[in-house]
Amino acid sequence: MNGKRRDDLRKFLVERKRKMWNELRDEVFRKLGSEYNSQFDTPNDLEELSVIDLAEDLGLSLSDMRKDELSRIDESLRKLDQGTYGVCERCSSDIDVERLKIDASATHCLSCQSELEKGEGKKKPTL
Ligand SMILES: [Zn+2]
Repeated sequence: MNGKRRDDLRKFLVERKRKMWNELRDEVFRKLGSEYNSQFDTPNDLEELSVIDLAEDLGLSLSDMRKDELSRIDESLRKLDQGTYGVCERCSSDIDVERLKIDASATHCLSCQSELEKGEGKKKPTL
């Protein structure tokens, strides 16, 4: 993976994470209500984990989907550091960046994905 691609992917993942994170934080503060909003003048300064802790301490159930999505993005960033993010698990070619922007956790390139969707069992026709 070249440096440009890696930088692009990192920027995209970090932005996506920040957006998810803002939504999650908004959700927490909406549930907490105005009382807590004033207690935390600068919710932006809260550490990511403390928002989750705070929510859980208060018995707020955050949508699991958001938490899953966040942990998937963390996982993707980890894989990016290891150089394994955005690489097709089947044919080892780089997954199209546009595809990753639609599905950040995609693990197969478009052609492999469609092959897989056609059914694992079927053999690829020999050309
Ligand atoms: Zn592939």
